[in-house]
Amino acid sequence: GRVPFIAGNWKMNLDHLQSIAFVQKLAWSLKDARLDFDGVEVAVFPPFTDLRSVQTLVAADKLPVKYGAQDVSAHDAGAFTGEISGAFLKALDCEYVIIGHSERRTLHMEDDALVAAKVKAALKYDVTPVICVGETAEDLAEHGPSAVPVAQLTAALEGVGAGADIVVAYEPVWAIGSGQAATPEQAEQVAAALRAVVAESIGADAAAATRILYGGSVKSGNIAGFMRQPNVDGALVGGASLDVAEFSSISRFQ
Ligand code: 13P
Repeated sequence: GRVPFIAGNWKMNLDHLQSIAFVQKLAWSLKDARLDFDGVEVAVFPPFTDLRSVQTLVAADKLPVKYGAQDVSAHDAGAFTGEISGAFLKALDCEYVIIGHSERRTLHMEDDALVAAKVKAALKYDVTPVICVGETAEDLAEHGPSAVPVAQLTAALEGVGAGADIVVAYEPVWAIGSGQAATPEQAEQVAAALRAVVAESIGADAAAATRILYGGSVKSGNIAGFMRQPNVDGALVGGASLDVAEFSSISRFQ
């Protein structure tokens, strides 16, 4: 079975000092609530400048919290000012990296080809990509619920080898930060279509093993409905991941 995955995308929030306090409190809260860590994986995605601090804290205190980065360069090393190599993320023991978030696609003009190159860069360094896909409200009206996410994931997995270790996050753009989450049924419908893409692209075994997350206005009040869906294996949480008590509740699906 797939272990549920609750991921907190901090976006550009919390500096390295704040990240230490937050992760410490989160670990206390999860332990206090007696979270079954075999039954759920909890991860935070802080800004790059926090990652070394989070690594040190998690390793020193053996905290049951995973972490990853919010982006990665498509390149290995060299004259790419401002970019961060997958090699550097691996050196910080990052298990995951978010790739193709809608904010990067729209604000930083990342296209499907760049997303695909970044997926390959992450896999090359043994960092699991959390591949984000999702349609805008206009896409939804024009093409229906699954067409754009399916096309984006198909493109992102172009040239990726069979059996690759990936996570997929379905984040409808209209649901991000809007307070208007998709319904669990809507999320399930698209998640099922995305699982079929994974099967087609990298094989049936990988499709069975791949966690598909829902993201977009997830909070403690709506997480349970998503987790009941057979093809939804967790959540990628933005705003609600910045509050320890709230993110801890979401990690318990309540
Ligand atoms: P919100 O949870 O704030 O809607 O953000 C979702 C998101 O973009 C996570 O990557």
